[in-house]
Amino acid sequence: MSGSTSRLNAISAVTNYVPLSPPLNFVETPLSSFYGKNVFNLQVMKERLPKSIFKSVLKTIEAGEPLDASVSDTVASAMKDWAIENGATHYAHVFYPLTGLTAEKHDSFLSPDGLGGAVTEFSGAQLIQGEPDASSFPSGGIRATFEARGYTAWDVTSPAYILENANGTTLCIPTAFFSWTGEALDKKTPLLRSMKAVNTQAQRLLKLLGHDKVGHVSATCGPEQEYFLIDRNFYFARPDLISTGRTLFGAPPPKGQEFADQYFGAIPDRVLAFMLEVERECYKLGIPVKTRHNEVAPSQYEIAPIYENANVAADHQQLTMLTLKKVAEKYGMVCLLHEKPFAGVNGSGKHCNWSLGNATQGNLLEPGKTPHENMQFLVFCAAVIRAVHKNSKLLRAVVAHAGNDHRLGANEAPPAIISIFLGDQLKDVFDQIKASGAAKTSKQPGVMTVGVDTLPPLPKDAGDRNRTSPFAFTGNKFEFRAVGSGQSLSGPLVALNTIMTESLDYCATELEKATGGDSSKLIPAVQSLLKKIVDEHGSVIFNGDGYSEEWHAEAEKRGLPNLRQTIDALPSIVEPEVIAMFEKYGVLTARELQSRKEIYFEQYALTLAVEAKQCYEIARTIIYPAAVRYQSELAGAAANCKAAGVEFDTTVLSKISGLIKDLGGKLSALDTLSHEMGGGGHGVANPAEAAKFCAEKVKPAMADVRNICDELESLVADDYWPLPTYQEMLFIK
Ligand code: ADP
Ligand code: MG
Repeated sequence: MSGSTSRLNAISAVTNYVPLSPPLNFVETPLSSFYGKNVFNLQVMKERLPKSIFKSVLKTIEAGEPLDASVSDTVASAMKDWAIENGATHYAHVFYPLTGLTAEKHDSFLSPDGLGGAVTEFSGAQLIQGEPDASSFPSGGIRATFEARGYTAWDVTSPAYILENANGTTLCIPTAFFSWTGEALDKKTPLLRSMKAVNTQAQRLLKLLGHDKVGHVSATCGPEQEYFLIDRNFYFARPDLISTGRTLFGAPPPKGQEFADQYFGAIPDRVLAFMLEVERECYKLGIPVKTRHNEVAPSQYEIAPIYENANVAADHQQLTMLTLKKVAEKYGMVCLLHEKPFAGVNGSGKHCNWSLGNATQGNLLEPGKTPHENMQFLVFCAAVIRAVHKNSKLLRAVVAHAGNDHRLGANEAPPAIISIFLGDQLKDVFDQIKASGAAKTSKQPGVMTVGVDTLPPLPKDAGDRNRTSPFAFTGNKFEFRAVGSGQSLSGPLVALNTIMTESLDYCATELEKATGGDSSKLIPAVQSLLKKIVDEHGSVIFNGDGYSEEWHAEAEKRGLPNLRQTIDALPSIVEPEVIAMFEKYGVLTARELQSRKEIYFEQYALTLAVEAKQCYEIARTIIYPAAVRYQSELAGAAANCKAAGVEFDTTVLSKISGLIKDLGGKLSALDTLSHEMGGGGHGVANPAEAAKFCAEKVKPAMADVRNICDELESLVADDYWPLPTYQEMLFIK
C-alpha cells in the first residue's frame, strides 16, 4: 500500500536541491559598466544619430512634442545596427493588451537579396508601425473577429531594449496597441494620453501660481513589488498553483507569520543569489532597482526601483515581473505574483508610489520643512485630496479583480474603503486651514534620541507611517497601496493622472476666477480655495487604523463608499461623471470605457470558472481518493481489532467517513454550478451577470469544498496526503 508519491518525491527533491555551481558567472565588473547596456537610451542615440535628429527625438521624449515621422528611417537604421552589433536577429513590437500581460510579436531583420543570400533590413515604417493579428486579444466588443486588424505604434518615450537569451537576443520596441478604428486596445495608450493631460493642467496651474519658466510636467512612479518564491518541485505537485496561481486548498500551518520573524530577516542564500541575478538583469535593462528585503509572510519578498517617468516605470514594471519569473526558474523556484497565493497568510500588493514633477519646479508634492508656507505644495496636495475623494469609487474599481478580492475588503490590508493618510504634520496644517482659513505653523519633527550616547541623534520624520491606509502620503509622494501584485500599473496610473488632471483644472479655473488676472489677489484666492477643498473633501482624510471595525462604521457615516468585491466596484468605471471626465481630457472614450468594463468582468468570470473546475478536479481526483484509501485502511484496522477482540477507537474513522460523505454533496453542488456557468471560454454572453453568478454562487461553493478538504488534511495520515502542505511549501527551502 503506497502513500502519496508525488508529494513525497517533491519534498525529497527540494531537500536535495543542489545550488547552481558556480551560481552565476559573475565577472567582477563594476555596476557602472553594465548598467543600461541593453538599452537604446539617450546616450546611445546621441552617439549614433545625426545631431538634428537626436534633438528632434529628444524634444518628443523630454518635452512631449509631436514625433516628427521623417526621422524614423534614420532612427530605425541606427537602432538596427546597434541591435545587430549586440547579437540581435529579430525585433519585437512589445505591447500591453487588456489582459494586463505583456505581448510581443517577433520578426526577423532578414530579407532575401534575390541572389540566394540575405540582407538585414529595418525601415522607419517597420519601426513606427506593426500589425499583429489582434483577434485573440480581448476588445470588449470594440473589434469583431472579422475586422481583426490591430496596430502597434512605436512609443518613442519608452526606450527600446535588447532581451537576452542563451541562443540569441531580440530588439524589443515598446508600442501602443489600437484597433483599425483607432480605439485603444491596450494599457499604454490611455496612460500616454493621461500623461499628456496632466502635464497641460499642471503647467497651467504652475503659471498661475507665478512661475515664468515651467518645464514639461510628468507623473512619476516607483512601484514596490511583493512576491512569493516557492520551490518548483512543490509548484509542479500543486495543479491549483499551475492553473490558477494560488492554492485552492491547504490547512493553515502550525507556525505561520505570527512571530513576524521573517520581515526584514536575513535573506536565505538561494533567494539572495536569485535576487542578485534579478537585479543584474534589471540593471542591464536600465531598470533602476534599489531595494530588496524579506516581507512579512514566510517566503515573501519585495523589490522596488527608484522612481521614473510613469510611462517608463509601467513598462519597466512589466519587465521586472517577467524577469522575476524567468530568473526564479534558473534557481529551481517559481515566483508567484498572485495577490493571495496562500489563504491565512499575508497576500501581495504592488505599492504604486506616485507624484508629479518637472525640471523647473522639481517634485510638486515636496512639502519642504514648513509646508504651511508652501503655497504650491498645498495647492497640489489639496488637488490630490479633492481628486481622491471625488473619485474614490473609480480608484477602487481600477484595483478590482478576482485576485485582489482576497485582499481588499476581505480580512486583509488595505481595506476596500479609499481614504487618505496624511501624517500628523500635514493633517495639522489642513486642520488649521479648515478651522481658520489659513495655516500658521507646521509641527516640527525634532530630533530623536535613543538614550545611547554612542548612537548619533537622528532627525525624526514629521509624520509616522501608517501601513493600514490604501492611499498614504509618504514624505513627498502618495502611495496607492491597494494595487494587486500581479496587476499592470497602467490602470491605476491612468486613473491617478486623470483625476488629478480634473482637479488641477478645477483649481486653476477657481484661481483664475478669483484673481481675474490680478496677481496681488493670488494669496487670498489660494487660501479660500484650500479652505473650500478641505471643507468639501476633508472627510477622505483618515490617519487612524484602517483595519478596525470602528473605521468601517465611521467611514459609512462620512459617506465614503466601501465596495468590497470586484462585482460591486467595476461598474464605477462607466458612471456618467467618470465617462465625462475621461472624455473631457481625451484619455478614454465612452466606448473604450465600456469595453474595459466588459473585459474586466469577463476576466473575473473566466478566472472563477477555471478555479471552480480546478477545485472540483483536485477534490474529486486527488483528495477524495486519498481520504477513501485512508478510510478503508482504518476500516480494515477496525475489523482486525474486532476479530482479535481488541478495542478500536473509531473517532477518526467516523469523522473521516462523515467528511467524505459531505464532500460528495458539496462536489456535486459545485459541479452543477460549473455546468450552469457554461463553457467559460470566450463565450461569456453577459460578463457582468456571469461575474455576479461566480461571486455569489460559485465562490461560496468552492469554499464549502475547501473547508471539508482542509479538515481532511488534519485527519488523513501524513503519508497518504497527496498535496504539498502550506508548512512544506512555505518553510522548506
Ligand atoms: P518608503 O520607504 O516610504 O516607501 P522609499 O523612499 O523607500 O519610501 O520609496 C518607496 C518607493 O517610492 C520607491 O520605489 C521610490 O522610487 C518611490 N518614490 C520615491 N519618490 C517618488 C516620487 N517623487 N514619485 C514617485 N515615486 C517615488
Ligand atoms: Mg513604501
